[in-house]
Amino acid sequence: MTHDTNDMTQPDWSDARFETRAIHAGQEPDPATGAVITPVYLTSTYCQEAIGVFKGYEYSRTDNPTRTALQEALASLEGGAWALSYASGLAATQNLAYLLRPGDHVLLSNDTYGGTYRLFAKVLGNYGIEMTMTDLADLDAVRAAMQRNTKMVWVETPTNPYLRIVDIAGIAEIVSGTGAWLVVDNTFASPYLQTPLDHGADFVLHSMTKYLGGHSDVVAGAVIGNDPEAFETLKFHQNAAGAVPGPFDAWLILRGIKTLGVRMREHSANARRVAAFLQDHPSVAKVYYPGLPEHPGHEVAARQMRDFSGMVSFTVNGSYEDAAGIVESTRVFSLAESLGGVESLVEHPGRMTHASVAGTDAEVEDTLIRLSVGIEHIDDIIADLEQAMGQGVRVPTVSATTAR
Ligand SMILES: *Cc1c(COP(=O)(O)O)cnc(C)c1O
Repeated sequence: MTHDTNDMTQPDWSDARFETRAIHAGQEPDPATGAVITPVYLTSTYCQEAIGVFKGYEYSRTDNPTRTALQEALASLEGGAWALSYASGLAATQNLAYLLRPGDHVLLSNDTYGGTYRLFAKVLGNYGIEMTMTDLADLDAVRAAMQRNTKMVWVETPTNPYLRIVDIAGIAEIVSGTGAWLVVDNTFASPYLQTPLDHGADFVLHSMTKYLGGHSDVVAGAVIGNDPEAFETLKFHQNAAGAVPGPFDAWLILRGIKTLGVRMREHSANARRVAAFLQDHPSVAKVYYPGLPEHPGHEVAARQMRDFSGMVSFTVNGSYEDAAGIVESTRVFSLAESLGGVESLVEHPGRMTHASVAGTDAEVEDTLIRLSVGIEHIDDIIADLEQAMGQGVRVPTVSATTAR
């Protein structure tokens, strides 16, 4: 290895609070110039003083200083020994899959993110990786689904789009001693609200495209962990296969991370108000939000999360047309896939993010609407939902499928 991503020349911020680490960990003023903000090191290669003698950096597929700063910040925020960053969340997932061999089995949640499901089922399945899916919120079902060749258990919590909660410590207890890795996709919570390594996970995965970046302007992924051998394997395969983020992408995520704490507090507070509003609305059939005491995962969520994040799903009374009428009438909420940005987004999972699981066990209701509640003023957010939902049944002029 040419460069230690846990660079010991950086001061130790481990005793500082989250908000302080988000701004300072890995982000010392630039030693060359004193620049307060980590520069975007737009360079593919680095000058060598003599053959093989260099200052830690050789080539930017292997390492880049902006990426190093990001990775040190990520490791600090998730409480891990190391972090690696990638060109997307799915590139991070693919890199973790290099820990598997043909004949190994992966256990996934039955409502895993569609792209993760697609990678394991439609790509890695062709390379001898077996997978099954079960309800990971049911620990008895997890015990029953573990196989002799299970080498990875893949948890998402909260899940998408029903915001189910999985007990990370409960799963860790089942997995420990079996030789399987426990991966937690922490995209929906962010490290401000949930740190899975503290509950026994081996790896945390992020789509940094969502809350970590936080401004809907960059696609990137990360893996954080403690195991030093796994780090060597993942780093080797990342360098060999090449799915790294560019320096500017790494910089955008670093910039986003600095405000993660304040953003997550606002997202959570606004989502709580939206959930309460929806619960009282006559057009709403059911609200899915782990902050509600009647949510089946509420107790576990309250134990392993610091707050309940900004995602709220709900079903409306009526038909697909009623749901489509609402998602096409909002103004503060933009009709778009993705989540976790400062702006509010609304989508119809059945015809948008989850269209590919139609006809499978993971199929979602046609009256389901998913909100990524942003950090606009709460009164404007509620007023927007009020006006959109007041419209009742409406025949859309353009169908939701063609409007994508
Ligand atoms: C978006 C997402 C991913 C995939 O990340 P990309 O950055 O889009 O590749 C993985 N997991 C979850 C929960 C996501 O929301």
